[in-house]
Amino acid sequence: MGHRLLLQNARVIDGVSNEAISGVDVLVENDRFIEVSRHSLSADADIVLDLTGKTLLPGLFDCHVHLAWDGKKDVGEQSGYDSRELGAIKATVNMRKYLETGVTTVRDLGVHWLGLEARDAARNGVVPGPRVLASGPPVTTTGGHCWWCGIEADGEVDLRKTARYLAKRGVDLVKVIATSQPGGSSAFPSSTKTIQTAFTFDEMAALVDECHNLGLKVTAHVGTPDGIDQTVRAGVDSIEHGGVPSDENLELMLAKGTFIVSTIGGSWMSADFGHLIGLSDELIAMIREKIADPNRAIGLVRAAQAGVPIALGTDQGSPATPPETIITEMFCHLHYKVAPEPMVVIKNATSVAARLCGIDRDVGTIEKGKVADFVVVDGDPLADIEDLRMPKMVFQGGCQVVQDAAVIPERSLYYPRKSRV
Ligand SMILES: [Zn+2]
Repeated sequence: MGHRLLLQNARVIDGVSNEAISGVDVLVENDRFIEVSRHSLSADADIVLDLTGKTLLPGLFDCHVHLAWDGKKDVGEQSGYDSRELGAIKATVNMRKYLETGVTTVRDLGVHWLGLEARDAARNGVVPGPRVLASGPPVTTTGGHCWWCGIEADGEVDLRKTARYLAKRGVDLVKVIATSQPGGSSAFPSSTKTIQTAFTFDEMAALVDECHNLGLKVTAHVGTPDGIDQTVRAGVDSIEHGGVPSDENLELMLAKGTFIVSTIGGSWMSADFGHLIGLSDELIAMIREKIADPNRAIGLVRAAQAGVPIALGTDQGSPATPPETIITEMFCHLHYKVAPEPMVVIKNATSVAARLCGIDRDVGTIEKGKVADFVVVDGDPLADIEDLRMPKMVFQGGCQVVQDAAVIPERSLYYPRKSRV
C-alpha cells in the first residue's frame, strides 16, 4: 500500500454526472483515485481531510495558452524583442499562476520552443506548474500569419518534413495557421488585406496526414468559413477561436468529430484591465461596445447547440489576458449562453478538454483509476461560477500544491511528480 489520502464528505462535481453529488468520500493512493464513494470510507490513510461545505472538482484545463507571453499590449513586439531568458521567466510565473487558479493542464500553442522546456521543467519538479502539452512554433505559409514566430513551410513535401521535424523536437501536438492576411498579419497590423485560406487543400491534407502518422493531433488557427471547411475536411482535430462557422461547417465538424477551442474571455479582461497595459481609451471603448453585444459569441452558441464539442481556452498571453482569464472565459460562456448552465461549462473545462487533448483515459474527471488532479473550493460553483476564482486547495497527482490560492512554499522548489501523463 502506498501513500493514502482520504477526502471526506465532499460535494463532488466529477466531470461526468449532470448533478453534483453530496456526501462523497474519495480515497487517493499515490497519484490515483482508487475509490469514489457515496458511503463513508473507513480506510487507513496517511492524511484525512474533512471537506464538509466544500466542492471538489477535476483540475481545470486551459486549451489555448502562450506561456512565454505576459499579456503586454503588443504581442509581436513581445515575441520579437523578449530574450529567450525573459520568455522562460514569464513562463515560470504563468505556470505558477495557472496552478493557483486551479488549472492543472494547459495546451501551449507557441510561439516558442519554450513551451517544451516549460513542460519538462514542471514535469520534473524544477518549478511548480501544470501538465503542459506543447506545440512548439506554429506551422505557417511563407509570409503567413505568425511567420515571425512560426515555421514557414510550403508544398506537400515541405509540410511532411516539417511535421517530422516537430515530432523529432518532441512536440505534443501541431498548430497550423490555416488562414492569413497575405503579407503576414500581426507583424503588420495596418494591413488591410482580407483574411484568406493560406494553404492548398493538398498541403493541409499532407500535413494532417503526416502528423497523424506520427501520433500528433493537429489544431488550426482559422478565421473564415472557407478555412474551417478546408481544415476540417483535411482532418484537423480542432479549430482555435471558433469564428462564425456556417451551417455546412457545423455539419462537417459534427461528422468529423472536430472540437472548437473558445477564446472569448480576453476581451472582457481587456475592457476591465486594458488601461493597465496602455490600451487607448478609444480602443477600450470599442472593446466595451463589442462585449456588450449579446450576440457576440453567436458562432460558439450555434456550434454548441449543434452538438460540436467545445473546450475552453483563453489565448493567455495576448493583451490583458493572464492565466486567471480561464475563470472569466467560463463566466463568458454562461453570459453569452454558449453553455446553458455552469455544469456544462465545467465539463467543457475538464472532461471535454481532456478528450480534446487525447488524455481522457487518465485525467479530466473524478473517477476511480484516474490521476488525482483536483481542485477544492469553498462554496458552490454551480450556484456562482466565480466561486472557482480562489481555490482553497489544488492537488496534482495526489500531491497538494496550492493552499488558499497560493503555491505551497515548501513544495515550490521540488516535489515528486509520480504521474507522467
Ligand atoms: Zn493564441
